[in-house]
Amino acid sequence: MSDVKATTGIYGIFGHPVSHSLSPVMHNSAFEALGLDCVYVAFDIHPEKIGQAAEAIKTLGIRGVNVTIPHKQAIMPHLDDTAPDAVHTGAVNTVKNDGGKLHGYNTDVEGFLRAIKEDLDFKPEGANVFLLGAGGAARAVMSAFCMNAAGSVCIANRTPGKAENLATQFKDHFSGIEIQSLALDDATAVRSRLAEADIIVNSTSAGMSGAGTIELPLDALKENAVVYDLVYKPAETALVTESRERGHKASGGLSMLLYQGAKSFEIWTGEEAPVDVMKKAIV
Ligand code: NAP
Repeated sequence: MSDVKATTGIYGIFGHPVSHSLSPVMHNSAFEALGLDCVYVAFDIHPEKIGQAAEAIKTLGIRGVNVTIPHKQAIMPHLDDTAPDAVHTGAVNTVKNDGGKLHGYNTDVEGFLRAIKEDLDFKPEGANVFLLGAGGAARAVMSAFCMNAAGSVCIANRTPGKAENLATQFKDHFSGIEIQSLALDDATAVRSRLAEADIIVNSTSAGMSGAGTIELPLDALKENAVVYDLVYKPAETALVTESRERGHKASGGLSMLLYQGAKSFEIWTGEEAPVDVMKKAIV
């Protein structure tokens, strides 16, 4: 950081709050490893100021930013264009400033796809998916599966109306994929849909320290079903541990965090991201 000069390229993250973010340490380690004259900082932006913050990217010549809660949707009207993964997800987590034009992307989608490929050797094409949760992260997971021709997706959520809304929105755009929703407390339906699933994805906050847990009847899973939990604090949740104990391949969410960051880095710099260095920084 003592090497910051007048020529140093500025990158950052817009969030509120943002002090917990692992992105600065991850991206600064990558810049340093590749010898790039760049620095990445966190900007705590009040929700009412997101339009001004987007304008400031251009005014100040900031080269790119990540965008996190609560700005992922709100920044979209302030961009010049938006990539299809961000359009389907309805959220942007990466902005590139290209000579004063702001391009929006959602690298959570590719981050998730790369994580299930690398960790679980899992391909989405034709897969039957059981998705827990219907919040922001669930939308990125839905985009990943629907844009890659999954066979079916069943969304289970504590508040069933939210799962229903999410299912309806994606059905409108992906009519070839069977998309259903159900209430998480409908034990019979949960059990029967779990039994058909090739992959179980937890996109709820349950399992996160202090956020409660979800009891799933994992004995119903097919022998070769795999499990991915987006939660990365703790790095291994009870869902991951129990699934592994039952003989299933299972992984926690650190890899998605890593690969979404790697994709953002590549969009901004055009360089291959040093994922080993970035992983070491966040672990
Ligand atoms: P969000 O929009 O607030 O959605 C939260 C979801 O979790 C909702 O579906 C909510 O259900 C459900 N939920 C929360 N507590 C629950 C409980 N005790 N039992 C059952 N369901 C519960 O949050 P988000 O942005 O989608 O993030 C969700 C999780 O994904 C967080 O842990 C976040 O850290 C993680 N995440 C990880 C990555 C990664 O890179 N690995 C990326 C994004 C997010 P209701 O609708 O009923 O409230």
